[in-house]
Amino acid sequence: MKLELTRVIQGRGRLGVLKGLGRTGQHSMEVPGCLLYTHFGTVPHLTQDTLHTLSSLPPVTQVTLAEHQEVLEEFKDGFRKFAGLHDTVLYCSLHDPATPCPTGYTTNKTVSVWGSGGRMELTVAKFMALQKTVQPDWYHSMSDGETWQSNTSRKRVRKSVDRTLAHLDECLLEHQKSQELDGVEVFGVVEGGDIFEERVRSAKETAKRPVAGFCLDGFQTGSMDQALRTQLITAVTKELPEDKPRLALFGVGRPDEVLACVEAGMDLFESFFPFQVTERGCALCFNFNISLDPERAGSAPPLETEKEAAGEPQQNGDLEVDSQTQMTPFEINLKEKRYQDDFRPLVEGCRCYCCRNHQRAYVHHLLVTNELLAGVLLMIHNTAHYHSFFCALRHALATDKLDLLKKRILSERDGQTERRE
Ligand SMILES: [Zn+2]
Repeated sequence: MKLELTRVIQGRGRLGVLKGLGRTGQHSMEVPGCLLYTHFGTVPHLTQDTLHTLSSLPPVTQVTLAEHQEVLEEFKDGFRKFAGLHDTVLYCSLHDPATPCPTGYTTNKTVSVWGSGGRMELTVAKFMALQKTVQPDWYHSMSDGETWQSNTSRKRVRKSVDRTLAHLDECLLEHQKSQELDGVEVFGVVEGGDIFEERVRSAKETAKRPVAGFCLDGFQTGSMDQALRTQLITAVTKELPEDKPRLALFGVGRPDEVLACVEAGMDLFESFFPFQVTERGCALCFNFNISLDPERAGSAPPLETEKEAAGEPQQNGDLEVDSQTQMTPFEINLKEKRYQDDFRPLVEGCRCYCCRNHQRAYVHHLLVTNELLAGVLLMIHNTAHYHSFFCALRHALATDKLDLLKKRILSERDGQTERRE
């Protein structure tokens, strides 16, 4: 894995291509970019056929460790073959970013993960045994990530950094001895809560180890305010080598937060956000159009002002506790009655299957009658819209229009959706 940066604008983000992905090194992906979020290798609600109606899918598929162990041990040929995934890079993460992770279950030697079967306690030995059965192309080391809440004590944060480094050393030792993991890349995890010195120490120490990249943990919505988050990420990325990618781990998904993280030097994001939006019956509907000529803006949609008319969506203070399930200002709630006779597509100009073939009124009808197709159509649109946002983000970085994009996104967030002429 090698990150080739084409543009680095100090304090304004990095544009580049991550090359040599996968064991054979034939895949690449543009950064800033997002991974493909899955449950057990499948994008929720979508079959492979419907998924592939979407253009420009991310080349990296994310799976979560907790879900598929005994059967994989028996199967022996790894998760990719088991799930029928062929032409993709497999990235294995410790936690599902869309599943809340209770705290209080970590010890010096173990971390806990939650899956459909409940809690599973992992030592490094067990964690590595699981990686050998999954056989991903890329995974991050075991980490103690329980320090994201702002009231975590300094002592607890220090302990989390120490443990995470110890886990990394143990993982690397086991990794180097393992034939099954030959050619697989390991990312180190940077912890440190909201304590500046601990963040820097974690970054410096992790960067000394032979890792392919870095996961920055603990910056999820609700963990801290945006200004502090940006300061901490900037301090961390300053300590990391330029040529290795940085992935925002666990919980950075909202467009405004993605933008702030990119400006602070992050490259990769998990794409659980469209799934969360789908699960609450909502459609992503925010404007990221930075083209002067909207007709040529591809899928970047001009939006109407109906979000304003709907009254304030729940305002997103930075410290919301229940932020994982709250509606954000970037979406519309299609269950609302006023969509029952709204015959427009979800987003004007969107080229996804849903917007080309259906109207808001139809999706509203599917939602209120609990039809499974509602989730399918919403997931198609939300995934397409979110991935198009990342395209717009790269385009903005390449053409010095990041300020314009930021203005668009922040006015969406703050409820000042612009009226088009
Ligand atoms: Zn659409």
